[in-house]
Formats: sequence, C-alpha cells, structure tokens
Amino acid sequence: MARRLLPRLSVVFGKLCALSKYNDFSMGSGSCSELILLRWWLMTPDVVVVGGGPVGLAAAIAARLRGLEVLVADRAQPPIDKPCGEGVMPEGVSALRLLGVPVDDGALPFYGIRFTESGSSVEACFPAVAGHGIGIRRLHLHRLLVARADEVGVVSRWREPITAVNRSGVELAGRNVPCRWVVGADGRESRVRRWAGFRPPSNVPRRIGFRQHFRARPWTDLVEVHWNNLGQAVVTPTASDEVCISVFTSEPLSPMVKLIDHFPEISRRLNGALPASSVRGAISGSSSMRSVVSERVALIGDASGSVDALTGEGLSMGFRHALALAEAFERNNLAHYQVAHHQIGRMPERMARLMLFVGARAWLRRRMLHALAAQSQMFGLMLGAHVGAWSPTAIRPRVLAGFVRHLFAWNPLEDTEFV
Ligand SMILES: Cc1cc2nc3c(=O)[nH]c(=O)nc-3n(C[C@H](O)[C@H](O)[C@H](O)COP(=O)(O)OP(=O)(O)OC[C@H]3O[C@@H](n4cnc5c(N)ncnc54)[C@H](O)[C@@H]3O)c2cc1C
Repeated sequence: MARRLLPRLSVVFGKLCALSKYNDFSMGSGSCSELILLRWWLMTPDVVVVGGGPVGLAAAIAARLRGLEVLVADRAQPPIDKPCGEGVMPEGVSALRLLGVPVDDGALPFYGIRFTESGSSVEACFPAVAGHGIGIRRLHLHRLLVARADEVGVVSRWREPITAVNRSGVELAGRNVPCRWVVGADGRESRVRRWAGFRPPSNVPRRIGFRQHFRARPWTDLVEVHWNNLGQAVVTPTASDEVCISVFTSEPLSPMVKLIDHFPEISRRLNGALPASSVRGAISGSSSMRSVVSERVALIGDASGSVDALTGEGLSMGFRHALALAEAFERNNLAHYQVAHHQIGRMPERMARLMLFVGARAWLRRRMLHALAAQSQMFGLMLGAHVGAWSPTAIRPRVLAGFVRHLFAWNPLEDTEFV
C-alpha cells in the first residue's frame, strides 16, 4: 500500500512545486524548496540521471514523459554554462520539440551552412524536411530545459555530486538512493563510466575550442565555417544583435582576438564590435565507445563518446540519445538503446573524420571548396545526409562523378570566386 502511495504522492508534490514556481502562487520559494525536499525524501526513483547538463536534463524529461519517476543530480548550480558554439542542428531542434522544450523562445534560426576560405565560399540550405537549426545561448538553453524538467515533475538536486554508483543505485549526499536504472550524463570525463566498469573510449587527437560572443548584427542566417591552416572559426548567430564565434585549433594557446585575426573576413565583419562575454575554452575531439550500456547503467551525451565540435552535432546527438534511451526504458531493454546509439553516431563520426582530414590539408581544402562550388548540388546533398534527411546513398552517381571530376581537375591558377 505504502509502496503504491509514495510515488503518487511524490508526483502530486512535483506538480505543486511546478505550479508554485511558474504561476507565482503565494507559497514563496521557501515552501517550494521544502516541498521538493519532502518529495526527494519520499521518492523511490526508477531512473537516476547523473549530470544535469543539457543532455542529462533531456534524458530526465524523456524518461518522465514515459511515466517514470526520475531524479537528476548535478554538482553545479543552474543555469550551467559551458564553452559551446551554441548551434543546435535541425535533428536536435526536432528532438527538443518532441520533449516539449519551447526552442523558439529566445533562439535565432539558421537555415544552412556556408564554408569559406580566402574569400571563396560555398553554401547550402538544409532540406525542407529537416527544418532549421537554432543559435541559442547555452545559459538560456539550460534555463529552458530546467524549466521543462520541473514542469513535467523531474526531481532535481543541484550542487550535489553523485559520489558512487553501487549495486543498488547511487550515492548522493551521503544517502544511498536505490533505483532501477542509472544514466551517466556526466560529460567527457565521465566518472560513472569508470565506476560502472566501462572500457575507456578510444580518442583521436584533441584540439582546443574557444568561444566568445560579440555585439554585432548577424550578417547571415547560415552558420559559417571559416577554414585556414590554423584551424576553423565558426560563426553562429545567437540573437538579433549578437554572434557567437568559436575557434578550433591544435595550435598552442593564444588570445582570442589574435586567433580571430587569422580569419580576416570575420575581423572585417566584426568591425571592432565589443565582446558580449568572456572567452571560454575547452577540449574538443572525437572519441568512441563500443558499448554504452551495462545491466543497469546507460551512458549518454559526451559521457558515451563524442564527435569533434566542428560538426556542431554534440547536443543534437545527445538529445536523440535521450529519446532513444527513454524508449528502451519503456521496453525494459537497454539493448535497444545500444543499437540506436550506434546509428545516431554513425554519420556525425564519418563527417567529423572527413572534415578533419580535409581541414588539415590546404591543397585538399581548396580543391574541395572548388569542386563543391562547381558541382552545386553536391554540398546540399552532403548536408542533407549529415542532418539525417536522407542516406548518403541518395547522392546520385552522376552528381558524385561530377564532383570527383572537379576535385581532380581544378587548376589552382583558375579564378576562385565561387559564390
Ligand atoms: C568549444 C566547443 C564548442 C562546441 N560547440 C557546439 C555546438 O555549436 N553545437 C553542439 O551541438 N555541440 C557543441 N559542442 C559540444 C557540446 O558542448 C557537448 O556535446 C555537450 O555539452 C554535451 O552535453 P552533456 O550534457 O553530455 O555534457 P556536459 O554539458 O559536459 O554536462 C555534464 C554535466 O554533468 C555534471 N557532472 C559531472 N560529474 C558529476 C557528478 N559526479 N555528479 C553530478 N553531476 C556531475 C557536470 O556538472 C555537468 O553539468 C561544443 C563543444 C566545445 C568544447
């Protein structure tokens, strides 16, 4: 009787908390935090999510929407910031919509990608079936996810690290919390991965990624990727008066302004615009894992492997992991998630390898840019495959042959004004 009643009581408390928080009830924040505390003590979660970053919150929301009792814990205080290019690709936007996150609130849409080097560029729009991507401040995205998690009745513990995963559940704030499933959403350096005995991921060479916002009117509704021998700079429009610039490089550290100076087209566009945030940097690189599930533990987001941030796929992949994992919970079979995880990562991993291979070779970059410009359908087809609108086999042999012909036929002395 008590076992049946407690989860229900806990849901009622969750709803009360959400109401008091978002409808400005007269209960005040003190009452709400007491209710949350009470609910936390009463609950026996089905799922504990370790890490309340964007992907952990998405996983918590997805599981809750399937009717599970979910606890999410993070060692940090929301809203949680992190160095990020702040672009969410169309598949990520669709996943957020399925989770009920109001993605259009405070975000700027972008409709495709432009590659640029030394004044030459090619661009393509996302296929209509894929929809658009969004540029969104990481802090704002986190706020939206926290609000949605509260709304659906996820119990959150902030500023409380999980200190162990054991046979019955996890350890949190000196208390053993038993649960059916543990989700490791604790980022690149996941400790859950280690505690649960997973093999460490295989890593490819890592780079440094820096990002900074500038007060400048976006000059495009595409995400721009600027290439040169130093690395890449990505421009994401994040607001009507703001752009986010990220630079990815394997070169030793140098100040952000100096790095941007290596991309004269961006410097010209910024035209002395003031920074709107401080510079933040983090490691970027691809890593992959053969297995991301054990009997009771599933890894998700960066904890389960990652692709180089240049692909702009990290968040989108994580949000899709979240949906797939919740479905596996419902089927009571984590093997389904393992299969889905592999499928979700396949295309971004290939794309990351291709982009880094080409990026490291100046002659190949210029040939590629030329061939993409000459065979204009090719970039659109590749982009469609990248965002999962169709399979790479949909690229017709005639188009592929034309692209390869241009790739090998280019004379570097020819005019290179492509767009
Ligand atoms: C420079 C740069 C630019 C990028 N640009 C983009 C981009 O434009 N688009 C894109 O899609 N992706 C981008 N990425 C990748 C993207 O940022 C990551 O894929 C994404 O942050 C992964 O989210 P996550 O929730 O899995 O992990 P994280 O965001 O790392 O969250 C992990 C959370 O776990 C918490 N945690 C850790 N240990 C514990 C513990 N023991 N107990 C409780 N909590 C714990 C941490 O506090 C943290 O909040 C970029 C990455 C970099 C480095």
